[in-house]
Amino acid sequence: MKLCKLVKKSKQQSYIAFTAKQNKLQEKKFASVPSNRRLVFAPHCMRNTAVCTAIEKDSYYICAECGACKIAQISKLAKNLNYMALYVVKGGRTITKIIQDQKPQAVVGIACFFEGDLAFKMLKEENLAAQFVPLTKDGCSATDTDLKQVERALSLGC
Ligand code: SF4
Repeated sequence: MKLCKLVKKSKQQSYIAFTAKQNKLQEKKFASVPSNRRLVFAPHCMRNTAVCTAIEKDSYYICAECGACKIAQISKLAKNLNYMALYVVKGGRTITKIIQDQKPQAVVGIACFFEGDLAFKMLKEENLAAQFVPLTKDGCSATDTDLKQVERALSLGC
């Protein structure tokens, strides 16, 4: 295996270990926050862009629940659990802005391990409880996640 592949694999393993540890550490605090003080963030790369009817804002989308990607199911679940909102975000900076505007006490973030690692570090400064659910297929488009893991995270303490 070439050196750059080894470095990439080692970095990925450190992201996996860090996010798993943070999920465990923050689980209790997260579960104590009422669901109506929690936000969900999903990445825009999960959308089925060929047919997506989400409403586009400056730096995020609001899912229209067309059913062409898993975000529809996540959106419905968040609503059923009485979450504040679900944002389909275009990038990490958007999350900071939304948090400053909406002032949640906890967040669930769905992202690749790299973004999850960054988000945990950023959210620590905001003193927010967080749970991270990794993408099972990452990349720039047609990404995917495990709905059972999302459901487990969203339902903590509910
Ligand atoms: S379910 Fe939502 S995010 Fe996914 S393609 Fe449909 S409108 Fe877009």
